[in-house]
Amino acid sequence: MTRMLIIGPPGSGKGTQAERISERLGVVAISTGDIFRANVKGETPLGIEAKKYMDAGDFVPDSVTNKMVRDRLSEDDVENGFLLDGYPRTTAQVEYLDEILAKTEEKLDVVLQLTADDEELVARLLGRAKETGRSDDNETVIRHRLDLYHEQTEAVVAKYAERGILTRVDGIGAIDEVTDRVLLAIEAAKAV
Ligand code: AMP
Repeated sequence: MTRMLIIGPPGSGKGTQAERISERLGVVAISTGDIFRANVKGETPLGIEAKKYMDAGDFVPDSVTNKMVRDRLSEDDVENGFLLDGYPRTTAQVEYLDEILAKTEEKLDVVLQLTADDEELVARLLGRAKETGRSDDNETVIRHRLDLYHEQTEAVVAKYAERGILTRVDGIGAIDEVTDRVLLAIEAAKAV
């Protein structure tokens, strides 16, 4: 049973690494960004609401995001643990997640932070924009998303560091190399 978070700036490869960790450890990976994108694609009310914020590179309001995560974490497939990718991103979301977990007396085992230099991230994301045409991958929006990460999500990281469950992994390098580092870091963190 492992309950984990993966946190990293946009473009750090957290989605890719989350999928790999999920396969190796047999825990379900839950990406709030993917859930939002699926809803945008399906033109659901949630997707129509979320799209406005996503296209501008803003956070979807906590009231919407928190409820979505609460519902997702009540599904059966999280019984063996979970890996949350992209949540929490604000300190208010940290508190909300604390409340969800407290209700079932659950605790997080590991919080993984993928690190990367801003200019490297901008270059990667501009490359991804050409390949995927993601509507939130243009330079102005990319820089705004990075600013939000520094302004809001680094405070989230600091909270978990204070709790002694944070592990930092260098996200620069070949995808396989980063996966090896990530898996080693998780093993080391769980052994403590
Ligand atoms: P991601 O794929 O994780 O980069 O997320 C894509 C977009 O979805 C973000 O830029 C936000 O607009 C939205 N989003 C994803 N997770 C959250 C969250 N925890 N809180 C608010 N907005 C989120």
